[in-house]
Amino acid sequence: MEISTVRVIDRTNPQPPMVREVWKQELADAVRDPAELCDLLHLDPALAQKSKKASRDFPFLVPRGFISRMQPGDPNDPLLLQVLPRLEELDDVPGFVSDPVGEQAARQGPGLIQKYHGRCLLLVTGGCAVHCRYCFRREFPYAESGASPASFVDAVNEIRADESIHEVILSGGDPLLVDDTLLETLIDDIASISHVRRLRIHTRIPVVLPSRITEQLLHILNTTRLAACVVIHANHAAELDSVVADSMRRMSRVVPILLNQAVLLRGVNDTAESLIQLSEKLLNLGVTPYYLHLLDPVRGASHFDVPEETGIRLIEELRNRLPGYAVPRLAREHPGSPSKTWLA
Ligand code: SF4
Repeated sequence: MEISTVRVIDRTNPQPPMVREVWKQELADAVRDPAELCDLLHLDPALAQKSKKASRDFPFLVPRGFISRMQPGDPNDPLLLQVLPRLEELDDVPGFVSDPVGEQAARQGPGLIQKYHGRCLLLVTGGCAVHCRYCFRREFPYAESGASPASFVDAVNEIRADESIHEVILSGGDPLLVDDTLLETLIDDIASISHVRRLRIHTRIPVVLPSRITEQLLHILNTTRLAACVVIHANHAAELDSVVADSMRRMSRVVPILLNQAVLLRGVNDTAESLIQLSEKLLNLGVTPYYLHLLDPVRGASHFDVPEETGIRLIEELRNRLPGYAVPRLAREHPGSPSKTWLA
């Protein structure tokens, strides 16, 4: 039986104990101080000092379950590199900007972005369960853009008024960070719009906080009239442990299309071997490798950048070693372009 709640007992309070869902407790317990992470992984405390300084503008956040998949004592662990702030983040590098894919120009209304024909992005929340240092929305002005549950009504009305929209993409932040009641209301509202036929959810939560995949969430996805697609985000095979495998197995029972998008990151997954292992592990979990994105040039992430030619060469190597359906498309996003550019 799934354990989805824990009792939080306050001995100073005579009220009955509060019941909190496991995922919410795990999120509350996530590590927010680089010094604690370095301590847990037996890393040099000097690393933590630098990290604290580097996380000045984009705070540090990582759940303990994700940390448990890192190798203690290894400062180059591929999972650690994705979340530990480095001093390079403070460098001002030409070409690396706050809005690398031009999302401000594509804003349609509160929390709504439309970049491509027939689809729109609804920014459900600015919050995430982990802060990935390479995130292209690390400087996104969520508060100003209305990316919050308070704006859902206006956003849904905008979608209702535009009959060209057939697919709504829930994004963020991470859309699965909002609780089930709110998510169900939002999905029901979207499903009440007859011209919307598909619901896509872009989320890193099944990988970094798999306890969030509750039976209630699966019920919501299973009962909507919308055709559901979930796009997860994993960059390295080591992210996909047995707990993640279980969450994906349960999700595959109700979601017909499960895809992964990864970002090509220097030092993390920029070898053919690493990408092959990722693709094979995803396929074993029933997840199709969909996109391998070149890094969006966001300020603070230049140290993750991998040249385009390297990406193309890596995809060619994957083609020689994997079945076609296991090879992700190498893509880059250009601001204002009507689609992503496929490079290989
Ligand atoms: S989970 Fe996604 S939106 Fe959140 S920080 Fe990571 S890449 Fe960015």
